[in-house]
Amino acid sequence: MPQKAVQQIDQAIAGKDSRSFACPGLFRIVPSKDGGICRIKLALGCLTSAQARTVAAIAEDVKAGAIEATNRANLQIRGIPAGSEDRVIAALRAADLGGASAGADDIRNVMVNPLAGDDPDQVLDARGPAGALLAALERDARYHLLSPKFALLVDGGEDAAMLAHPNDIWLAAVDSGTFAFGFAGCPPTGDTGDHAAGFVAARDAVALVLACLDLFLNHRGKSNGKGEEITRFRHLLADLPAAKIVAALPITVRRDRVTEAWRRKPAREQSPIGILTQRDGRRAVGAAAPLGRLSPAQLLGVADLADVHTGGAIRLTPWQSLLLPSVAAETADTVLASLGRLGLVTDAAAPLAAMIACAGNTGCASGLADVKADALHLAGLLAERQVPVSGLHLTGCAKSCAAPRPASITLLALAPGRYDVFRRESGAAGKFGACLGADKDINQVAGLLADPSLRTQGRN
Ligand code: SF4
Repeated sequence: MPQKAVQQIDQAIAGKDSRSFACPGLFRIVPSKDGGICRIKLALGCLTSAQARTVAAIAEDVKAGAIEATNRANLQIRGIPAGSEDRVIAALRAADLGGASAGADDIRNVMVNPLAGDDPDQVLDARGPAGALLAALERDARYHLLSPKFALLVDGGEDAAMLAHPNDIWLAAVDSGTFAFGFAGCPPTGDTGDHAAGFVAARDAVALVLACLDLFLNHRGKSNGKGEEITRFRHLLADLPAAKIVAALPITVRRDRVTEAWRRKPAREQSPIGILTQRDGRRAVGAAAPLGRLSPAQLLGVADLADVHTGGAIRLTPWQSLLLPSVAAETADTVLASLGRLGLVTDAAAPLAAMIACAGNTGCASGLADVKADALHLAGLLAERQVPVSGLHLTGCAKSCAAPRPASITLLALAPGRYDVFRRESGAAGKFGACLGADKDINQVAGLLADPSLRTQGRN
């Protein structure tokens, strides 16, 4: 691309709307109540032990508040003191983290499932097309105009699959030579009502996504029929239905009753915690960062284990957990026990394995309660009472940053230590579902959740 065109795009990137700048990146440390947030977008969720050491060291060095695993398989450092930003950015870039430029870093939002390439149930290896797509997005500065939130998924049909996070464009393997694809959502499962926009040959899948992005860029920044600025694919769909988008693509696409009826095979809905067998017989060992947070010492401990057992490979998952892949079968138990000694959650049945909480009032000006502390308290009470938990979200306000879709149970903060409790139900009018209890303290919430009839009735 001519230099002048690149400069024009850089100027346009600098002029992205203010919402772009609320979204942290490696080059854009965004201030929050507890300090700056630096998001480290990992290529397909992969981190090396050397990079993990760098993240731990710089977080320790600048006395940052926390290292967090995010729900798109990335890491972030939060609580970065003012004046330390340049040091953090320089250290992370020296460790080959992030994109080559701010624009390239913003668009590193291609997600694969955490065991991609190694999952025994996968239909194909998603890393090839996902890697090619990521490289094309970083290489071509036109795509750097996309919102830093613009999300893409390449689903290889793995068992451990995150199918609850909405994506602007998704690809999902149908068979070894075919992808289904769709816009502004997730691969359809069960009777969700969503359906694929069509099927494309796997060899054309990357070209299809890029063609969709080219089409999107022609509309980006304009207003749609609802008066919304077109920054995400859902805004474009308001004006241009999927059928019209598909018809405009210079790629052969199948679109008929078969594609409309296609459903993605059921996937494991929970974080891959514990020991999983890979397709080559080796093991992936998974553990969760409690409420998404890791201390520098924990991350260093994970790096040490990776050096000994995985050749330095670490994978982050969209459940705010991590996997150590390709561990020898005979040492997997030892690795899992070591992760447990580091303070990570290694029991898939533990309440903390299924709990998430946002930054809350210690890290966010909008937070009405210290949801992290309350979540730890609640996890202890639920463990004592042996209450099974599957999807429990404590949110500091109704914005619900930590959960793109309603969890089975949501605790919405009203004031310090006080929550409304909701259960997700199909057809319920509220954002989080049906209200189980209003203005409860954590002990009352634990009592409520211990009641099996309240916990399970009407769940979808
Ligand atoms: S959900 Fe509300 S309180 Fe929690 S991080 Fe988001 S804006 Fe802040």
